[in-house]
Parts: sequence; structure tokens; C-alpha cells
Amino acid sequence: MNIGAHVRGGGKLIPSLEAGVAIGATSIQVFTQSPRMWKPSQYAPEVLSAYREAQATHPTITDTFCHATYLINLASADLELYEKSVACLTHNLSVARGMGSSGLVLHVGSHKGAGFDDVVRQIADAFERALAEADPAPEGVADCPILIENAAGAGGTVGRSLEEIQFLIDACNGDDRLGLCVDTQHLWASGFDYSSVAGTEKLVREIDNSVGMSRLRCFHLNDSKIELGGNRDRHANIGEGTIGAKGLAPLVGHPKIRDLPLLLEVPGTGEGPRAEDVVAARAVVAAGIKLYDGPTSSAPIKKAAPTKKTTVKKIAMKKAMPVKKSPKKAVKKTTAVKKSPKKTAPTKKTVKKTAPTKKTVKKTLKKTVKKSTPVKKTAKKTTKKK
Ligand SMILES: [Zn+2]
Ligand SMILES: [Zn+2]
Repeated sequence: MNIGAHVRGGGKLIPSLEAGVAIGATSIQVFTQSPRMWKPSQYAPEVLSAYREAQATHPTITDTFCHATYLINLASADLELYEKSVACLTHNLSVARGMGSSGLVLHVGSHKGAGFDDVVRQIADAFERALAEADPAPEGVADCPILIENAAGAGGTVGRSLEEIQFLIDACNGDDRLGLCVDTQHLWASGFDYSSVAGTEKLVREIDNSVGMSRLRCFHLNDSKIELGGNRDRHANIGEGTIGAKGLAPLVGHPKIRDLPLLLEVPGTGEGPRAEDVVAARAVVAAGIKLYDGPTSSAPIKKAAPTKKTTVKKIAMKKAMPVKKSPKKAVKKTTAVKKSPKKTAPTKKTVKKTAPTKKTVKKTLKKTVKKSTPVKKTAKKTTKKK
């Protein structure tokens, strides 16, 4: 499992990684700039490359996701706001690409009642422009997809259903650089009940039949202050909301979901995700895995389940760190081995195909994305590095 968290680095990039480590997260999400201001962040190329390097070699943090500015509204009828939004998205994407991010999560915006059909084309245009005009990903760095986040469904928000998101991707001719981030709270608020194994199976089928599971790159893991179908965006700490630990378990334990980065955006005590929130999330995933695999699979995680508040925080971190380090290092080593072109045993081919590590899959996926995007390549050639 890969429990991540939205963290704040105080406007600096590398400290964000340490903020993730401090709470025991193995992925992080950051804002590329102040989320409620248009003012673009100004990172020098060296700052971005230093982050990229720090992330790529980090012993415990596997992925950095970026969250785009909240002010962006690609569905706005106000041309000035629309243009500002496209420029802002483009800048966000430049930074995310420069950081070597695994995805830029985006709230598409709201048509304010005009109707979804009326705004599909302008949103698709915005995606196409941002993907073409943002600074290209540096040589050898996997491209960063724009991940459309599903909406809770209030006030004409776009992306309240998988169908809407599929329409947007289709309108961009299925561009491989567009993907999906599912927020568990938004999904619940939009009326999708995944709180049973049957409900989750239905969700996985729907994703498969719409955008496809390969576009699903991460989850936002949140409980909800709003009831099922309440159409509002209000996150609660895991186990403290209307979904509850029991309602989240079938989703996060599903075999096709459990290994994706599950990023907490919970309030904590007002400062965002804490170590105990990460511990709570791990316990939910462990419980969910049991639903599918039976009771034997998650014995080591059980120890971390918290009962008291303050003392648990320190203990949990101490316990969580060494546990995490070993599997991660193992993964890295395997990846390194696989990278070096060993041609010793040709029979190994089949073995490799059946049991790829997550990282390898991801890298291959990303490479395929890169290869299949002629648009980006042309952009790279024409817009020379400054
Ligand atoms: Zn979001
Ligand atoms: Zn979210």
C-alpha cells in the first residue's frame, strides 16, 4: 500500500518531502503555487531539477503529485476568467513537469448552470493548449499527466460523474496525458455508494468501461462530513465521517486499487494530515485487503492501529518507518536490476511479464505515453530551452 498526504512545504519544494516523511507518508501532494491566488510561483530551473533529483532518489517517498490552483475555471463563460485559467493551468503544468511530478490534479471548474454540453469544447481546448504550451518535461523525465478530479456535484461543477470525465477525454481524442484522480469524499457526495464489495466492484467496472483503469493514477482518500449524495465538498478524518472506516475499506482494499497512491486530504486538527491519520489510513487499507484476500494477509499492519492519541503518534512513526523502508528499498533494487540489460536467462521473460513491480509498470506506462505523443515532441523542438 502507498499512503500519501497533502503536505505544505512553506513555499519551498524539497521541505515538502520531509513533511511527508515526518508523518509517515510514502507519497505526497503539494500545491504548485498558492492555491487561492493567481500569482504564479517562480522556481528557477535549478530548484526544479534539485527537487526532481531529491524525489527520484528518495528512500521512502515514491511519488509527488501536484494540485492545481483552485481559482481555475475552464468551464467559465467569462472569457477573461477562462483565459486566466488556461494560463494558470499551463503554468501549473510547467512546474509539475519540472518537478518530475506523477500527476497534476485539477478541479475542472463550474459551468454555473449553463450545462455540461455547452462547455465540453472549451474545456478540451484548454487541455490541449496547456499540454502543448507548458514547458516540456526535461529530457529523460516521464511526462506529467493532468489528472481530472471527480467533483462532489455542487453548483454545476464539471466532472461529477465518470461519464463527464470520459466525455472530456474523448473530446481531446483520448490524449494519453489526461488521467483521473478519484476523491473518495467527492464520489460519496456525488451519490456513488462504494461502501460494500459489490459497490466497489461496480465502481471499478464503471471506471474500466469509461476512462479505463490505466488512467486512474491516484485517489484522494478522505472521509466525508456530508451524507451520501449530499453534493458538497467537505472532508473528514478517516473513520470520523459518514463513510467511516468500514465504508472505505472495500474501496481501498480492492486488488486494482490497493497499490495506487492514496493521498490524504483530511483536516487533522486543522493543519492537514497527521501521522495518526496515515496510521488510520493504513489500518483501513489492511482491513479492506482482508475483505478480498482473507484474514492472513495483513498481520504486520495490525500493530500500528492506534488507540490513544498523543503517545500513539510517536510510536506509530517509529514503527512505521522501518517497516516501510525495507519493502521500498527492495523495490528500488529490483528496478535497478531490471534496468541493467541482463541477458542471462531467456526463460525469465515470462516471469517478468507476470510479476512486474509497480515501479516498472509505471515507468513503462509513462514511456509509452511519451512515445505516443507527437504533439509534445514537436513542442519540444520548436520551443527551445531558455
Ligand atoms: Zn482536489
Ligand atoms: Zn480531493
